[in-house]
Amino acid sequence: MTQKKRLLGLLSLILIAGFFCTSVASYWVSRDSIVRGILVQELPLTGDNIYSELQKDILRPVFISSLMAHDTFLRDWILRGEKDAREIQRYLEMVKNRYDTITSFLVSERSRNYYFPGGILKKVKEDEPLDTWFFRMRKMSDPYETNVDPDMANRNTMTVFINYRVLDYDNRFIGVTGVGLTFDTLRRIIDNYQERFMRRIYFVDRQGMIVLAGRSMKDIHGSIHNIPGLKDVAAKLLNTDSKPKQLEYRSEEGIILLNSRFIPELGWYLVVEQNEELALQPVRRVFWMNLTVSTAATMLILLITLFAVNRFQMRLERMATTDHLTGLYNRQGLEVLFDQMLKEVDRSGVALSAILMDIDHFKSINDRYGHLVGDRVIQDMAKRIHESLRKSDVLARWGGEEYLVLLKDCELVQALEISEKIRKGFLENPLQIAGMSGPITVSLGVARLQPGEVKDKLLARADQALYRAKEKGRNRSEVAA
Ligand code: GH3
Ligand code: MG
Ligand code: MG
Repeated sequence: MTQKKRLLGLLSLILIAGFFCTSVASYWVSRDSIVRGILVQELPLTGDNIYSELQKDILRPVFISSLMAHDTFLRDWILRGEKDAREIQRYLEMVKNRYDTITSFLVSERSRNYYFPGGILKKVKEDEPLDTWFFRMRKMSDPYETNVDPDMANRNTMTVFINYRVLDYDNRFIGVTGVGLTFDTLRRIIDNYQERFMRRIYFVDRQGMIVLAGRSMKDIHGSIHNIPGLKDVAAKLLNTDSKPKQLEYRSEEGIILLNSRFIPELGWYLVVEQNEELALQPVRRVFWMNLTVSTAATMLILLITLFAVNRFQMRLERMATTDHLTGLYNRQGLEVLFDQMLKEVDRSGVALSAILMDIDHFKSINDRYGHLVGDRVIQDMAKRIHESLRKSDVLARWGGEEYLVLLKDCELVQALEISEKIRKGFLENPLQIAGMSGPITVSLGVARLQPGEVKDKLLARADQALYRAKEKGRNRSEVAA
């Protein structure tokens, strides 16, 4: 029993360990490849796409601003002394409407006037922080720059300005012109990507302030130096080398995978984030499903094993208590039944009798007809005896050609009757075995269990009676003293 338990325990341990290890290993491999795929391919690709759409959005206005800066009307109008402001106003309005920009402007170096489609907005001043861009442009060698500032002419909405240097025909600086763009298109691109890929996309300026974020995901604003988790990687994120960076940080929602790249045209970082938990959900589901299936399989295997072991055990037990040749109980099997019977008899007080019988001159049967025939005699005789008994009687093969019958609820007289019936049966109706002639006889010893008598004593008395039957010439029943 303990051995069976140990076998089942060991088997379940091996199965559980095996299934668990494969499930965990496959989970980690999938997880690893998904995380790597997100970090190395998906997030950078999203960044690339947004960047190229962004460039498309920026390049057109750069081209428009370049046309304005080289326009002979605009240059002549400045060189002629900026006489009629309405003329340049009409020009700027036409550009704004024609190219659908949020604003268009011209700042003259000579008058420092800031012209826009609505007229003259103001005069730029060197000590005004909002005007520093103009004085930077004066000294700049590049023909243009992209600058993000609030647009005063448009309720201070954040605007991308393309500032283009205007030169006279001798290449002297005479002002700055250009257009302003809204972030709406940009925001639309971001929203679209966020929704499609369940990713958070936002822009961060050089100082770490979040300047623009998509609308559909969890709100993010303020400085990344103050956002839990994100602030741990802020320093690495705000690194202007042009190579995109792959980072990872832990937030309240789990591990966040992040890709950041610097966009020189804006002076901002484009950040694309993906929640690892969300991406791993399908793999997790598969993992739990694997475990469930494995558990079910383990249970099933254990059940089948238990069933097989039980059946095998039963067969072994039966084999150990049964005699092969006759199918009767052997001594071992009889032992158990005998004890059981004794207990019953003891309790109920009924009589118990035993008949021990031995085939007469069996050696000579073996010698004359051979062992196989001898075996056949033992078999057929067992069958015959069995047929003449009640269901409650027990018949066992006691030895080579010896049988023992236990008769419950049977007095000595009845037992002797049964003994004689068996003996006479072999005379009146001899066994028919091919090649054999003449009846086979048996000698029998009959004994009744006496009060307080032990098993061995009863058998010894039956054996003595049998011995006497043999001595008295065989083919007879003798009652034990
Ligand atoms: P007795 O009348 O005194 O009993 O004479 P016996 O020849 O029968 O003598 P005994 O009982 O001592 O001999 C039993 C013989 O039965 C000896 C043995 O070779 C033979 N024998 C025992 N078991 C088997 C068996 O399974 N098959 C066969 N063929 N012979 C067996
Ligand atoms: Mg014998
Ligand atoms: Mg014999």
